Amino acid sequence: MKSKRVHLRTFGCQMNVRDSEIITGLLISRGYKLTDKPDDADVILLNTCCVRQHAEDKVWSEIGRFSKLTHKPIIGLVGCMAEYHKYDAFKIAAGIDFVCGPNDIGTIPFLLAQALERDTKGIAVNQRQRDEYVYNTDFQFDKESCFVNISEGCNNLCSYCVVPLVRLREHSRNYEDILKEIQQLVGKGVKQITLLGQNVNSYNSENINFPRLLILVNQIEGLKTFSFITSHPKDAGQELFIAMSRLDKLKKSLHLPLQSGSDRILKLMNRGYTLKEYLQKVADYRKIVGGAISTDIIVGFPTESEEDFLDTKEVLETVKFDSAYIFKYSVRPRTLAAELNDDVPQEEKERRHRILLELQKVISKEKK
Ligand code: SAH
Ligand code: SF4
Repeated sequence: MKSKRVHLRTFGCQMNVRDSEIITGLLISRGYKLTDKPDDADVILLNTCCVRQHAEDKVWSEIGRFSKLTHKPIIGLVGCMAEYHKYDAFKIAAGIDFVCGPNDIGTIPFLLAQALERDTKGIAVNQRQRDEYVYNTDFQFDKESCFVNISEGCNNLCSYCVVPLVRLREHSRNYEDILKEIQQLVGKGVKQITLLGQNVNSYNSENINFPRLLILVNQIEGLKTFSFITSHPKDAGQELFIAMSRLDKLKKSLHLPLQSGSDRILKLMNRGYTLKEYLQKVADYRKIVGGAISTDIIVGFPTESEEDFLDTKEVLETVKFDSAYIFKYSVRPRTLAAELNDDVPQEEKERRHRILLELQKVISKEKK
């Protein structure tokens, strides 16, 4: 029988890039072939992001386009949007053949076989935690540099964020499994590793916390360099910074999302720290580690006044991050912030977004 061809599109963060790598490995080992061309594919998989409305809009329009292809490929909605829209995906886009949430990606070969054989709609969502075998699919996008998940999900309830609703509760992978995975990758010639988690700092497996895990990874023979994303300011501190300063293979770089420079907004966002506490962490990091630092900012959160915005702007001006990702607030239904009135007008969000982008562009250039 001729191999079925799969076209896989990835949207969103590094976590999704790694998930697409896992999915590719699962499919190749079962005889599927990957293709860049949707026109040529028996199956189209969209591995999706729903962190902002804009990310979703792109996917719905792609599905609309793919549904019109005359050769009628199987269409699978995979990842965060699948979990978020498990009750209405088939209604929103009738062309979808199956949906599969981020914790259920191990079932994709089964869903696909079912979709290719029978004319039924498939659904796999809600799995609390991934099956460990998905991490052993033995396929890499890159020969030298790889992502390794250390935890999945998130236990924080930042009021604007959909991640805990779609990637569910935090689960730390067993530290021995992580070390084994890295050793195997290094054995195959990988030189650089990025450890992935929504909040790497709350990692804990059998009393191995995150700084301790970093120490163990640093000891792996043959590994050249490694880094990690993402840190949460309330959980990153001196122990982490001291470990970072001492580990020779660890890149001296920290992504520490601030989100807002106004304490009132930080509280509404349920971030669990004040600006003063955040700035103290930055000062500690710079003193102990002395490396690069980047951040995430959201403008136009409900009730954000000009004064709140100027507080954020001032932090960017004084801290001088090496880089910053600036986002316009986007209401996510079923999050806590969705209860608040989205009262900053779109043009105002755009103005604030533009101002911070331009400011950061100048700072980033200065710092290079
Ligand atoms: N776990 C990571 C990634 C979260 S999503 C973390 O905590 O940093 C990445 C970024 O998207 C967040 O840091 C935030 O700045 C932004 N974001 C999340 N939800 C958003 C929303 N509803 N509107 C606008 N930006 C959002
Ligand atoms: Fe979302 Fe907050 Fe968890 Fe990050 S820490 S994934 S922003 S809830």
